[in-house]
Amino acid sequence: MRFPFALSAKIAAHIIKHKLRQTPKFALVLQLEPLHTCNLTCTGCGRIREYSTSLKDMMSLEDCLASARECDAPMVSICGGEPLIYPKIEELVAGVLEQGRIVYVCTNGIFMRKKMKDYLAAVYSPSQEATLAKLLAEKLITDKDVETIRKGRTDNRPVIRPTKWMYWNVHVDGLEYTHDLIVEREGVFKECVAAIKMAKLLGFQVATNTTVYRETNVREIEDMFRFFSWLGVDGHTISPGYDYDAAKKDMATRLGKKPEDFFLTRRMTIEKFSRIEDWGKAFTIFGTPVYQEFLAGKRDLTCTAWAIPTRNIRGWKAPCYLMTDGHYPTYREMLEKVDWDKYGVVNGVARDSRCENCMVHCGYDPSGALGTNYQRGDNWKNFRYNFAARPKPYPDGHLVNAFNGFSAGKGHLAEAKAAIKAGAEPENAAQHVGARCGGGETGERDDLLAKIRVASKATAKE
Ligand code: SF4
Ligand code: SF4
Repeated sequence: MRFPFALSAKIAAHIIKHKLRQTPKFALVLQLEPLHTCNLTCTGCGRIREYSTSLKDMMSLEDCLASARECDAPMVSICGGEPLIYPKIEELVAGVLEQGRIVYVCTNGIFMRKKMKDYLAAVYSPSQEATLAKLLAEKLITDKDVETIRKGRTDNRPVIRPTKWMYWNVHVDGLEYTHDLIVEREGVFKECVAAIKMAKLLGFQVATNTTVYRETNVREIEDMFRFFSWLGVDGHTISPGYDYDAAKKDMATRLGKKPEDFFLTRRMTIEKFSRIEDWGKAFTIFGTPVYQEFLAGKRDLTCTAWAIPTRNIRGWKAPCYLMTDGHYPTYREMLEKVDWDKYGVVNGVARDSRCENCMVHCGYDPSGALGTNYQRGDNWKNFRYNFAARPKPYPDGHLVNAFNGFSAGKGHLAEAKAAIKAGAEPENAAQHVGARCGGGETGERDDLLAKIRVASKATAKE
């Protein structure tokens, strides 16, 4: 089966229950953002920009668990910010699992290996030595890690354990050069790959989560699927780039870029996703075939953003993950008070100009599952896709030139680093770094630019 039976059955039962009750609006996936702090500053990320004044705030564990209970979505996607920074992430994952929900931990991958080492320490017994030896041989842990793991855990806190009800959902936007460029830090792709390898060795389920931007090369995305499928990844979420208000402003002020140079229009999305149905046959692409047809431009869908609500430190964010017209204290109140008919694109006409280019999964994937804009045969299509045999791992993924950036000495900061080494700023170094790599308040790029300036001043004085 393409997806684990228990998970598909749980979601199907939830939809059928509400259809029978004729519930007009209900949640399928909760996007839970316990905090907005992140250790990265990705170029297209609206979160860390929109909520930049509340980065230190976080939801309490009780509030997170109560939100999951209130909206009663069968799936909870714990995102952020970087959720592995949330101090009670283990308790949160355990609590949501106890509620009987499917959990996705959406992470940039940087702290995944640390969390898995905590898990190994918690379950350590001499019978784990063979696993530790394998991880050591693959250079996924060090001798020092092994010593620590053998000592076991000294506290009683829960750990994140492999279970069929949970996925690591790792953010990867391309192969090494592209991904590191988008997340504005070299070495992140390499860490993600190490974390994914370790997770698969330990029996975790892993998905990748990719955003396609205007500059994204579709061939590279196909290579990325091949590579991660070969690594044993269990599924891929893919969505067109978010045209966030906050990300747009950041583009203009910080990077000097026009948002339309980075984000996709509807026409471009359809071009980029023209082969998505083929991808769905070759790889385990998450999302309904109806949504895939929509992305490929073969049909219309109406936005059902209320089915993937976002809950964060300020409340229930309306109308959707991308746009903020208000926050509400409860999911129920948000459902009742928001005029949902004001949003989305219907028959090619945007009801709100900000929705014009939006085809994102959080607005339209549930529409495919819920039968909005139902066409004859859709239910069978969805059923067949979910219950069909899972595509086999791509056999030649090792031939993909995945490490085509930092690992090959060709990362996006290579030129700037070379300039520092040479003690001078090449004519285009600052422009190269600034224009192509972006840079965050705490980013590697800013440090490098500062060093370049110091180096060039020193050269000028000589
Ligand atoms: S990893 Fe990137 S996209 Fe995710 S929250 Fe952090 S900055 Fe945003
Ligand atoms: S179409 Fe839906 S998901 Fe997209 S921006 Fe508008 S309200 Fe949000």
